[in-house]
Amino acid sequence: TVRTRIAPSPTGDPHVGTAYIALFNQCFARQHGGQFILRIEDTDQVRSSAASEKQILDSLRWLGLEWDEGPDVGGPHGPYRQSERSAIYHEHSEALIEKGHAFRCFCSSERLDALRAEQMANKQTPGYDGHCLNLTEDEVNARVAAGEAHVVRMKVPNEGICKVQDMLRGEIDIPWEQVDMQVLMKADGLPTYHLANVVDDHLMGITHVLRGEEWINSAPKHILLYQYFGWDMPQLCHMPLLRNPDKSKLSKRKNPTSITFYERMGYLPEALLNYLGRMGWSMPDEREKFTLAEMVEHFDIQRVSLGGPIFDIDKLSWLNGQWIRELSEDQFAAAVQQWALNPAYLKPMISLAQTRVETFSDLPNLLGFFMAGKVDPAPELFVHKKLDADGVRKALQLLLWKLEALRDWDKDNITSVIQAVAAYMELKLRDLMPLLFPAITGQASSVSVLDAMAHLGPDLTRYRLRQTVE
Ligand code: ATP
Ligand code: GLU
Repeated sequence: TVRTRIAPSPTGDPHVGTAYIALFNQCFARQHGGQFILRIEDTDQVRSSAASEKQILDSLRWLGLEWDEGPDVGGPHGPYRQSERSAIYHEHSEALIEKGHAFRCFCSSERLDALRAEQMANKQTPGYDGHCLNLTEDEVNARVAAGEAHVVRMKVPNEGICKVQDMLRGEIDIPWEQVDMQVLMKADGLPTYHLANVVDDHLMGITHVLRGEEWINSAPKHILLYQYFGWDMPQLCHMPLLRNPDKSKLSKRKNPTSITFYERMGYLPEALLNYLGRMGWSMPDEREKFTLAEMVEHFDIQRVSLGGPIFDIDKLSWLNGQWIRELSEDQFAAAVQQWALNPAYLKPMISLAQTRVETFSDLPNLLGFFMAGKVDPAPELFVHKKLDADGVRKALQLLLWKLEALRDWDKDNITSVIQAVAAYMELKLRDLMPLLFPAITGQASSVSVLDAMAHLGPDLTRYRLRQTVE
């Protein structure tokens, strides 16, 4: 049976690109009556977080995607989180060394840096030079016994061509000399993406790997690992990456990329999923609006077109409007209520206004920004008594960068960030407030802007700051 998977790394916001790849994997599996699996690739201990994992799972589920096996739903091939599978990777890496397909490398980072610098200076492709391939077994054993830090690298042929078979592109030829002797196990005993990904795809019975085209250059390493282990290779299918309207790779500098942004802006999950289904793919009758079930019914991976699909918010908004107009009154009311008229969102926001209103009818004017996307502050609101226009821009830009890097979004952390920016600009915290009110609320004054930022959330806060510096 067909088994596909999505393998997100929980290292940041839930990316629309992840949802796009997940959608195509789910459609392909369903169309063949197979299974779709979700695996968390959290081998990068420093960048991975439980909060990011939760957001990815929540966002994919909000969109209406459903996996048959995964860290949250279980299944017969678990655990589905790579951080819980260390012993498996260790065992497989030792087996490769045993068979002579991998070797221990003791090279210091200084040696590798120097090697790289030399290769760059000679205009050679940077890569490992095989230094530790020449160590004798006795020497390796002695250095391991002495506890010397080392990694495990895979051996790679130094001539010939690797033929990668891709379901959409046919055969892709990649010369072996371009393929590095990839590290499989790091010095901390944890696997790299390449080893963990191949071992898990095999052990989880994955038959088709549909993933972004940025992984094409990794395919030779994976093909080689399957050969070394003596395993059947799943079929590979590299999907075109999403692009900004200017054709560059979709990036959050130019377009919001977090699924949660679209949720907060009040897009319907069905409409966003529908739009992602139109990325490089179309219905046989070219209709623009379709449900997930309709997409599965008519799915054909060969209809994926390789020209880079453009993720265009205006087109998404148009499609969302189509979806909205076809909802019943009850469905529409329920959807809006669930979006931001639910008690969990309303109560903290109304509480912020209690000390500032005389009648309830004062509320919309004061709190409207909590429901808005853009707030369009008047430019004169950014005239500052201590900073000139450049200074204002610089302060807001700095604030945006620091808030983009902020992991745990709460009032204390937001306050620390603003304090740091104020200190850098040689200002007091309260001197920055006159800039924050218009940027975030659109008005010169409002409810506590620090509380407002905390409650509004990272997506809309960053979006509004980005609007002010553009
Ligand atoms: P960077 O800007 O550093 O390249 P990124 O935008 O690629 O970062 P990541 O956090 O590295 O963001 O990616 C998160 C996930 O989203 C990855 O699984 C990646 O494959 C996917 N992804 C990122 N950009 C795209 C894209 N343009 N199209 C499809 N998938 C993407
Ligand atoms: N963890 C990888 C990612 O984040 C998975 C790539 C793959 O599908 O092989 O995109």
